[in-house]
Amino acid sequence: MKDSPSLQQLMKIYQKERAFLFLDYDGTLARFAPNPDVVLPDSELIDILHEINKLESIRLAIISGRRLDHIRSLVPINGIWLSGSYGLEMIDPSGNELHLLEFDHLRLGLEIIKPTWQALIDRRDGFYLEDKGWSLAIHANGSDKHEVNLVLENARRIDVPDGFHMKYTHNFIELCPPKADKGVSVDYILNSESFEGALPIFIGDDPRDEDAFAAVQSIGGVGIIVVEKDRDTKATYTLKRPEQVRDWLKEIK
Ligand SMILES: [Mg+2]
Repeated sequence: MKDSPSLQQLMKIYQKERAFLFLDYDGTLARFAPNPDVVLPDSELIDILHEINKLESIRLAIISGRRLDHIRSLVPINGIWLSGSYGLEMIDPSGNELHLLEFDHLRLGLEIIKPTWQALIDRRDGFYLEDKGWSLAIHANGSDKHEVNLVLENARRIDVPDGFHMKYTHNFIELCPPKADKGVSVDYILNSESFEGALPIFIGDDPRDEDAFAAVQSIGGVGIIVVEKDRDTKATYTLKRPEQVRDWLKEIK
């Protein structure tokens, strides 16, 4: 896959004078925190985003799987879109908070599952139960594959509560609403704020960002994946590391 051209070059290639930049946070703008509950704002990054936000020709949105209040602490910038929990909770540029689903009703389903999953990982090392309010996940970082398989298989045996679906990989399982989708979030934002003639660009690193690559590409935009080695992706271009993403952002004028 090709290294991403600069934003200026991309706008030339796609014959656009403006751009709507959608950025994932963890693994894209910053290296991963030790666990998702660690919130360490990065002043260099905040300065870079501040500068970009002053430009008339650019709109900014941060689209993360983290909770909205974390994202607000990590990116304390007014006048941009902030989207948390894969788009279920957002703040628009005027500061209005929007929820795509009714929280209290949905939460009841997770309250039933949470103690069951907690019991599965109690007294075991290398497991982490992440409660994002709208979703619940077990991260398995242990090296004992047999134990990881056992815990995740048992976690999969629950009855999935109404309004949720289950997603899993070899070391991760999550219950989240199907609307928790970065592609849905990108579409929502583009439909809410008309920014005529802009090139939509999504930059992200993980499998959940593929929905957003598809969303921007379906309307003539560009996906840029942050990854060291090539992998199967809907993105067109690549940037290798968060440091390279920052350099790419710093070049924007
Ligand atoms: Mg990420």
